[in-house]
Amino acid sequence: MRRQLVAGNWKMHGSLEANSSLLQALVAAAPAACDVAVCVPFPYLAQAQQLLAGSSIALGAQDCSMHEQGAFTGEVSAGMLREFGCGYVIVGHSERRSLHGEGDAAVAAKAERALAAGLIPIVCVGETLQQREQEQTEAVIGLQLDAVAHLLGRHAARIVLAYEPVWAIGTGRSASAAQAQQVHAFMRARLGHRGVDAGSVPMLYGGSVKPDNARELFAQPDIDGGLIGGASLKAADFLGIVDAARSH
Ligand code: PEP
Repeated sequence: MRRQLVAGNWKMHGSLEANSSLLQALVAAAPAACDVAVCVPFPYLAQAQQLLAGSSIALGAQDCSMHEQGAFTGEVSAGMLREFGCGYVIVGHSERRSLHGEGDAAVAAKAERALAAGLIPIVCVGETLQQREQEQTEAVIGLQLDAVAHLLGRHAARIVLAYEPVWAIGTGRSASAAQAQQVHAFMRARLGHRGVDAGSVPMLYGGSVKPDNARELFAQPDIDGGLIGGASLKAADFLGIVDAARSH
């Protein structure tokens, strides 16, 4: 059975002081009965590792290198993330794809490095508004999934997929529960056709999830939790979303 996961993506937000209050509030609430993770900026990994020690909240990062080590100035390897207690790493977030030109092959290579280092990659896929309006959603997501299907074939339960429609990220305009479910069902069917044990793959929805829409999204049969941006920066909102996941 797939467990629900709620993962926060802090993006480039935070400070030592703000992180400390946020993480202390999350730890004090001791969320259980669903998996919870926070993906923090690299410089705050050590701080977050220390504050989360002994809690059930997992630590994650927001990207990793496709290389194991070497002359790659500015990059951070999956092995380094593991040393700082990370259990998860986001790869292929739409902001990395659009702002840093990361394509499907790079995303797959990063996911493979993450797996080799013992991390669970959270692989993001999603269509732009223009692609949706041109009815290319399934074609776009199909290709993004095909790039990681070989990895999912070997590690179906050790990779998390996150469907994040680009038009819903940070816009306050979430996909409806029906729209999100439709894409998640398509994703399972597509992976099934590629020989993946698609029923074992955890699939999150991300894009303007808030406490007041989380319950309906997480109630969908193919949605196993959420990847949360803006709302993961406020303890009450993030815990409200965790609470919605817990009830499924
Ligand atoms: C994200 O960036 O992964 C995300 C889902 O952001 P938001 O929740 O702010 O839309």
